[in-house]
Amino acid sequence: MRDRVLITGAAGFLGSHLCEYFLRLGFRVLGIDNLITGDLKNIQHLSSVEQFEFLQHDVSKFVHVEGDLKYILHFASPASPIDYLKIPIQTLKVSSLGTHNLLGLAMVKKARILVASTSEVYGDPVIHPQTEAYWGNVNPVGPRSVYDEAKRFQEAMTMAYHTFHGLETRIVRIFNTYGPRMRLNDGRVLPAFMGQALCGEDLTIFGDGTQTRSFCYVDDLVEGVYRLLLSDYVQPVNLGNPDEITIKEFAEEIIRLTGTDQKIIYKPLPIDDPKQRQPDITKARQLLGWEPNIKRSDGLRTTWDYFKSLSKERIHEERNHRMFS
Ligand code: NAD
Ligand code: UDP
Repeated sequence: MRDRVLITGAAGFLGSHLCEYFLRLGFRVLGIDNLITGDLKNIQHLSSVEQFEFLQHDVSKFVHVEGDLKYILHFASPASPIDYLKIPIQTLKVSSLGTHNLLGLAMVKKARILVASTSEVYGDPVIHPQTEAYWGNVNPVGPRSVYDEAKRFQEAMTMAYHTFHGLETRIVRIFNTYGPRMRLNDGRVLPAFMGQALCGEDLTIFGDGTQTRSFCYVDDLVEGVYRLLLSDYVQPVNLGNPDEITIKEFAEEIIRLTGTDQKIIYKPLPIDDPKQRQPDITKARQLLGWEPNIKRSDGLRTTWDYFKSLSKERIHEERNHRMFS
């Protein structure tokens, strides 16, 4: 019998790529998602795959799974600032109550669990680049705290289950990752810029564009997650691409790539928007023999090709759909 893996957030951006990856490796995959920020279209192509099952369920409520589980990957959570500001309570719940439920399930199934944490645990970092040893600079009551503090709690809860129950746990701190199946209206910078280029709108830079981010292509990230899952390392590990760029330079790259004749316009910077972000991936290099291989120019091209391949109806639907209202 093939090993079975549970992936929460399966209908989301990263979750759908993880489902594909584990199926390719020969696992049986159970995907769970409540579709609050995800879309069944992301996993439609897997519906005929015999080794794939899907359950629509909110993991902040008790999670019941029949049968064996070798691994659990907890990726369910709104991930973009626009999303988590619209659904703050659900965001807090999925990384706290949801994580608790999945840790409990892992205990019952004697499964190893990997939880998706984030560079946001470092908040607006004063240490640069960010190593795992840095404890972060998070505003506990600011608008982003619903995400950042929930993820920090998730890490604490996961470590406690490891320490007190001996549960096999892994924690990945993911830095900005991009690729096909990001939602055009999720508000993150890449789908925002590419959506604007697709629809002939100006590209909106928040602030003066000097803030930095480091973008990792999804295939690199998924490979790193798998290596961490199989490793014996229980402390948090950063995964991301250290190739740092200002948001202004990023907008200019997208303009060149897409050939849009639109210009850049400037809007107010959201509260507590981190000024700089770059992962120190020394640990991942040493422990997992992992580093990203896909250059931004290649990853952006593939992602742009994906957005261009969407039907006009889907683009319109995704960009104009008001989530959660
Ligand atoms: P996404 O919004 O595309 O996917 C999240 C999925 O989780 C969605 O399908 C959503 O419907 C589902 N979900 C949310 N709450 C749920 C609940 N209570 N029960 C069941 N399903 C629920 O986001 P993503 O970019 O794929 O992010 C996935 C995970 O990776 C998140 O945990 C996020 O915090 C983490 N992460 C992502 C990035 C990134 O750059 N993409 C960076 C850091 C961390
Ligand atoms: N951003 C921007 N224009 C947009 C969307 C985002 O300038 O239309 C900026 C945002 O303020 C932030 C950066 O791009 O400084 C990355 O934002 P994103 O929401 O993708 O991720 P995060 O802030 O969580 O890293």
